[in-house]
Amino acid sequence: MKALTYTAKGRFELNNKPKQDIIDPTDAVVRVTLSSICSSDLHILHGAVPQAEVGITVGHEMVGVVEAVGSEVFKVKPGDRVAVNVETFCGECFYCKRGFVNNCTSGGWKIGCRIDGGQAEYVRVPFADNGLTPIPEDVSDEQALFVGDILATGYWAAKISEISSDDSVLIIGAGPTGLCTLECVRLYNPAKIVVCEIDETRREFVRTHYADVIVVEPKECQKVLDGLTDERGSDRVIEVAGTEDTFRMAWECARPNAIVTIVALYEKAQTLPQPDMYGKNLTFKTGGVDACDCDKIMELIAQGKIETTHLITHCYPLSRILEAYRLFEKREDGVIKVAISTD
Ligand SMILES: [Zn+2]
Ligand SMILES: [Zn+2]
Repeated sequence: MKALTYTAKGRFELNNKPKQDIIDPTDAVVRVTLSSICSSDLHILHGAVPQAEVGITVGHEMVGVVEAVGSEVFKVKPGDRVAVNVETFCGECFYCKRGFVNNCTSGGWKIGCRIDGGQAEYVRVPFADNGLTPIPEDVSDEQALFVGDILATGYWAAKISEISSDDSVLIIGAGPTGLCTLECVRLYNPAKIVVCEIDETRREFVRTHYADVIVVEPKECQKVLDGLTDERGSDRVIEVAGTEDTFRMAWECARPNAIVTIVALYEKAQTLPQPDMYGKNLTFKTGGVDACDCDKIMELIAQGKIETTHLITHCYPLSRILEAYRLFEKREDGVIKVAISTD
């Protein structure tokens, strides 16, 4: 089968590899129909993910059709359409039982990092009963494509931010994950949503698709929020951008006693300057997605309450995936997300 392989720091190659097989009784093998490229894939390409070894097949956002299941898989059967979860989790350890599946003692980000991923014709999914979400008949592959990774992240970010209907919510960053966060924040009907984004093309994308959202650039963010909140600052801040400036903006734009949710991944350590922020009494929530709400997200898509197909700005066949990577990495042609179809 064709599989995009990490062959050296700075190099991916579309190689021929043996088709994936069941190894453990809780495994399933999925024939991939549509996959996508994530900025985490670029981190692997740049050698910034030490857990990803040379030779691995990359890709952790995909949907497909179940090809085979092990003897201990009960939720899905061959022929079922499914979305694959970025996180592998056992469902039985201390953390899984509490819903903290990101910290599963035998899981984490495995697919497309520590085991072969889904920018390929087939992918093996461990703990398939937890890692696969059936796709209803009336939901397309495109609609379901982001369920297991960036939508799971956006859903979790909105959920842990404890948003109520009189809140103002600031989302920092309107890249793919920021836009998925926006989709999920809207489920809570907050009084005001402000999206701050440095890139004009992306600001325009938000204005075009979300007319009810206030769109600002970083230099005007604090001022606009002050005007909207009687100088208090935002009730909730969700930081999805991941730079030193946006980290500072997250706590500066938060009102006293606000919740600040940090789902961004930083390249360097960030500082909380306690003397400056001492009296603000903020609650910080940080870290990587607990991707255990995928069934709920799929249901919301089927109900028309979450819709992310407009994030797919470009489509390529698997045979041309390296071109898709170049476009995605250079952010050419207004790209948000690329869908890769298996040809
Ligand atoms: Zn990802
Ligand atoms: Zn576990």
